[in-house]
Amino acid sequence: MKLPQFEAMSQGQSPEALFITCSDSRLMPSRITQTGPGELFVIRNAGNIVPPYGSGVGGAIAAVEYAVAVLEVPNIIVCGHTLCGAMKAALQPDGLETVPHVRDWIKFAEPARLTVDELRPNLDPAARWRALVEQNVCQQIANLKTHPWVAARTAVGRLRLQGWVYDLEAGRVLGVR
Ligand SMILES: [Zn+2]
Repeated sequence: MKLPQFEAMSQGQSPEALFITCSDSRLMPSRITQTGPGELFVIRNAGNIVPPYGSGVGGAIAAVEYAVAVLEVPNIIVCGHTLCGAMKAALQPDGLETVPHVRDWIKFAEPARLTVDELRPNLDPAARWRALVEQNVCQQIANLKTHPWVAARTAVGRLRLQGWVYDLEAGRVLGVR
């Protein structure tokens, strides 16, 4: 049974997608997706990160749970972007001593960084940065699948997960998977 306040909210919106993107001020989700009020449920944070299930309570995890379990969104889009400062920081974690919360948050991109460096060890800095942007989107989709409601709804075909990279300079979306 849904709690009354959740019932009221779920009657008030029926978004097409949960859109997870970076806090970067150059990104405008409604412009990227050509959507208006009521169409997107949005999570924004540094690096468009979704911590894996079991890593503690947080705003991103709660919003995923609410969007999938209560609002029953049929789509989740993880949208990374080129020139992402969070991903640049993930490539140079030693420079983050003065911002310990950023450092801890960016650790959720560490599996993606290791994957890029294992698969493509000889990239120049710009290509490595770009590769991490893409791999991080894949990583966050993998993290989403660890969440029980996401796993259950995707298993029965009621939820579709997509990865995008928004090219800031070209102003267009590239599909990742
Ligand atoms: Zn970013």
